[in-house]
Amino acid sequence: MSDGTSRLSLYRRWRPQRFADVVGQEDVVRTLRNAIVAHDVAHAYLFAGERGIGKTSVARILARAVNCLRPADGEPCNECPNCLAVSAGRSLDIVEIDGASNRGIDHIRKLREEVNFAPTDLRVKVYIIDEVHMLTTEAFNALLKTLEEPPTHVIFVFATTEPHKLPRTIVSRCQAFEFRRVSVQAIEAQLKRIAEAEDLRLTDAAASLIARRANGGLRDAVVMLEQAATYGRDSITDDAVLEMLGLAPRETQVAFLDAIERADRAALLSTIDSLTERGKDLELFLGDVIALVRERIGRGEGAVDRDVRLARGLLAIRTDLYRALDRQVRLEIGVLALAGSLADAPAAVSGTRGAASRPKPERPAEKAPPARAAAPAHEPIAEPRSERPPLPDDALALWHSLLGEIEKDRIAIAAYLTEATPSVEGKLLVLLFSPEHTFHKESLEKNENMQYVAGAVRRHFGDGWRVDVRIDANAQRKALPSEVLLEKARLVCQVFDGRIVKEAS
Ligand SMILES: [Zn+2]
Repeated sequence: MSDGTSRLSLYRRWRPQRFADVVGQEDVVRTLRNAIVAHDVAHAYLFAGERGIGKTSVARILARAVNCLRPADGEPCNECPNCLAVSAGRSLDIVEIDGASNRGIDHIRKLREEVNFAPTDLRVKVYIIDEVHMLTTEAFNALLKTLEEPPTHVIFVFATTEPHKLPRTIVSRCQAFEFRRVSVQAIEAQLKRIAEAEDLRLTDAAASLIARRANGGLRDAVVMLEQAATYGRDSITDDAVLEMLGLAPRETQVAFLDAIERADRAALLSTIDSLTERGKDLELFLGDVIALVRERIGRGEGAVDRDVRLARGLLAIRTDLYRALDRQVRLEIGVLALAGSLADAPAAVSGTRGAASRPKPERPAEKAPPARAAAPAHEPIAEPRSERPPLPDDALALWHSLLGEIEKDRIAIAAYLTEATPSVEGKLLVLLFSPEHTFHKESLEKNENMQYVAGAVRRHFGDGWRVDVRIDANAQRKALPSEVLLEKARLVCQVFDGRIVKEAS
């Protein structure tokens, strides 16, 4: 190896070399070590889980452990000739294949011939196939034949982020392990360990910020740490991390949330202005603000019903920002409308609610549905009209109890559902979306969402009830106080050439 150890990326340098060093996959590691100690290693393993959480690292440790000349307690010694050969990538008996770029039958045919030869320099040949779900059907079939009669000197490790795409026949021949996302605490602790060893000054706040941003992926976290170290010249503060990632500090998020709740339009607009000027990512910012509301709901603080409405409005705005080019204007209009609707809404409205067992979340019901903050621009305000007979009272009550439950459990789904007009055909609940809400309909139709909604419908309406979603031009929305505000903002926006002036109301 070259002497460029310091040039090696932080992530590669901190790659675990022993099972005990693997962060956050305790169950997997314990089982593998026990198997090695008991000389009971399987012929094929399936490592499933998100990217960057240690699948390949564990596969490589396993490759050394089964070949180590002086293993201790299931761990490789990392010093014997075998361990060194594997670590240095010198052994012909350890083969790593990227399933994404070697998808075809030819590669697997070659592999099938090779596996029959005895190992050249080690005890056991280990084939690590990454992203194995990418293989073609033909390649899988060829692989399957090898798995049916595996030579004793071979171990396969298949790694995948999408185990559901693997043929059952393959999965059933593997011992499968599910790798978990690494917890925020575990990532934080590891970042601090690395920083200390590498002489990086990392503040607690920065460590926690990176850990939360990494979303369970240790590799991403270490890469972020390294970037931050380069960025902040070895002194890593939360400010430096925020700056690097284009994020706003928490105080700004809190103040922004506060401004929405106080309907302080000037503060909202000037904050958005300043974020844009400083090149912050508005969508990420909104995501952070939503997370604040979510935390508050989770802590059971404040008016939960109001917070749910607030979160739903913010989610709708974020949906609107996604893929939009004019994000600043959309965010401005969205939060102005949301602030307006929160201010207009009465503090509590007792609607027709079905579930008496639950505390009734306040819901303005038909009188004033939640903020339609994210309507696309240039859309005329819909005339109130309804060609379908209204939902009978008892069904309406059931619908509200269903929404109430989903709001607490899956707020994104609730956000989509609130745009629907429910209607009943026999034992079929039909959710009608106006054409402009095609996105909501399509989001709901995603398999897992639909199953969830169908389950909720059965729980609230009864067994035998089914649910369907449709686009219906008649499913139009009523003009609401918030939309009047929205329309005003739009007019102002048009007049001033796409820029909203501060006095939008
Ligand atoms: Zn060894």
